[in-house]
Amino acid sequence: MARRRQVYEGKAKILFEGPEPGTLVQYFKDDATAFNAQKKGTITGKGVLNNRISEYLMTRLSEIGVPNHFIRRLNMREQLIREVEIIPLEVVVRNVAAGSLSKRLGIEEGTRLPRSIIEFYYKNDQLGDPMVSEEHITCFGWASTQDIDDIVALTLRVNDFLSGLFLGVGITLVDFKLEFGRLWENEDMRIVLADEISPDNCRLWDAKTGEKMDKDRFRRDLGQVEEAYQEVARRLGILPEAGVRDLKGPETVQ
Ligand code: UDP
Repeated sequence: MARRRQVYEGKAKILFEGPEPGTLVQYFKDDATAFNAQKKGTITGKGVLNNRISEYLMTRLSEIGVPNHFIRRLNMREQLIREVEIIPLEVVVRNVAAGSLSKRLGIEEGTRLPRSIIEFYYKNDQLGDPMVSEEHITCFGWASTQDIDDIVALTLRVNDFLSGLFLGVGITLVDFKLEFGRLWENEDMRIVLADEISPDNCRLWDAKTGEKMDKDRFRRDLGQVEEAYQEVARRLGILPEAGVRDLKGPETVQ
């Protein structure tokens, strides 16, 4: 890893300079944090599973014309992505009440919402990612009205597609968080989906039993965290053939 210049280190991922200009290598760690990094831990094999799950979901989304930063997976823990200018927003979509929505508004967890809700949070760890409205976003220049329209349109398509995809494997997509970036091609700018889509930033409940299959198992000390992530990958039909314990180090996968 020392061979490449590190561009950014986040809580669960590291970004390195990519092999060509305009590309980056996204490395998935096993580290997990919750409650604005007040709770820290390691989930063995999480990085391998999230790399694979995110690759699969981003690829499926590309196939239906949702542009995103994913180019290809490089090995067990790394993927090649397009370098984008990240829009400092966390875009949360909710189909069923849970987490902060239930807490703030007193809506019982598990209540199906009459329609999907999109919320925006300002991506700023020091401030604890506060919820913001479109007024704040345009006022402070984080994104334009046109950008927000594009983000909402893409988010709704992602939600419809992923809700169906997960339901097909017996999982309810309760809520999830997306991030978007600006991709510059000559003079043109496109908004594309960035970051990752994995059990780290989705709430996934077994459709029959309601069992949690996501990071809430870590947040709420429910145990069997790695097993839950593995079960999501298994149901999607993408469990890494070599297993998740890649102690040998990354192997190049073409
Ligand atoms: N989420 C995330 N990163 C964050 C905050 C939320 O990925 O910094 C995801 C979270 O996993 C869940 C959804 O966004 O799927 C909604 O989270 P919520 O607002 O309920 O917050 P939480 O309960 O996680 O504090």
